Amino acid sequence: MPSSTAFTGNVIFPDRIVAATVICRNGRIEGIAKRPPRDCQAVIDAGAGYIAPGYIDIHLHGGGGADYMDGSIDAVRTVNRTHLRHGTTTVFPTTTTGSPEEIERMLTACDAAAKSWTPGDGARIAGVHLYGPYFAGNKVGCHSRKGRRDPSPDEYTRYFASRLVRIATCAAELPGAAAFYRAARSARCLITCGHSDASWPEMAAAFANGMRHVDHFWCAMSSVASVRARLGTPMRGSMEQFVLAQKAMSTEVIADGQHLAPELLRFAYDQLGPSRLLLVTDANRAVDMAPGRYRFGPVETGSWFESNGKVGFVPGSGLASSVIGLDAAVRQMRHATNAPLEDVVRMATLTPAERTGIARSRGSIAVGKRADLLILDKAVRVRQVFLDGVRV
Ligand SMILES: [Zn+2]
Repeated sequence: MPSSTAFTGNVIFPDRIVAATVICRNGRIEGIAKRPPRDCQAVIDAGAGYIAPGYIDIHLHGGGGADYMDGSIDAVRTVNRTHLRHGTTTVFPTTTTGSPEEIERMLTACDAAAKSWTPGDGARIAGVHLYGPYFAGNKVGCHSRKGRRDPSPDEYTRYFASRLVRIATCAAELPGAAAFYRAARSARCLITCGHSDASWPEMAAAFANGMRHVDHFWCAMSSVASVRARLGTPMRGSMEQFVLAQKAMSTEVIADGQHLAPELLRFAYDQLGPSRLLLVTDANRAVDMAPGRYRFGPVETGSWFESNGKVGFVPGSGLASSVIGLDAAVRQMRHATNAPLEDVVRMATLTPAERTGIARSRGSIAVGKRADLLILDKAVRVRQVFLDGVRV
């Protein structure tokens, strides 16, 4: 019999926290018990801390000085190792705007990294988030403007053919968005609308074509006022009202304490609940790096931003994504909302797993799932990370 490991402590399940023992064998969770079995070879004791499932980030660009769009396998591994240290065990590498060649190169690098993955390479890739380049012209944010364009089947058909794209973003109001959404639906992606100035009717049309998620709520998205500025009166609903009203929609927040004030985090949690709201980092390459000037996206052509060690920003313009790991987002969300810890952890684990279709093997502590586990201390700081039951 291969050896088993028991993790004992306060176990964070999706709906409760219970003192228990998680028994793992062959990289999987084999059972949940009151206490470690006698034949157990190793016992990991979380003490007064917690045992949590590994975090899952569906929206992240970089870390440790690298951006996925740098397009090399080394860059991919650097980002994945950086986020693993912050408790993220599964990632969806996220494209920025860029040329078709740059996006192709990013997909190739992620594919190579995923196929050759070993635990020493950091967080595991579950699929790519095709995020840029199909943004609205007036909602490009900190991304390179030159790399933005409308969706064309000649281009995206190749991306979907890689079978690596699991999440697909497009602004709903763009010409060609409907065909893009239908292609993404055929590829069984989580379909999202982001960097968009869409009105309610445009969101409703997108919904009919399979769109079910909105990227970073309140950031680079429409409001009633922005839709009025574009389409006039009568004033129309925006992405915000559509997400709040439509129960089949989910969204995500960047809970870094810099993008959104605590009342907005609390409001999103109260309105959407832990199974429709996700935590993401949207992290750039400045995670765990000294304050300074960096490129967002490809290292040669990406747009410049500054990091002050707390957040990325473009002086005189606005924020340029976060410089945190999901561990900090979990702590900030808990602090801002006072929500039960199991709800906050769910938003960084099971909810992203459910929305992306990987919940059968990941996202919670349950028999049969991968033993991707975190040991957290009482203050919810990451103390140890386990991939397939092995400490990394
Ligand atoms: Zn964005």
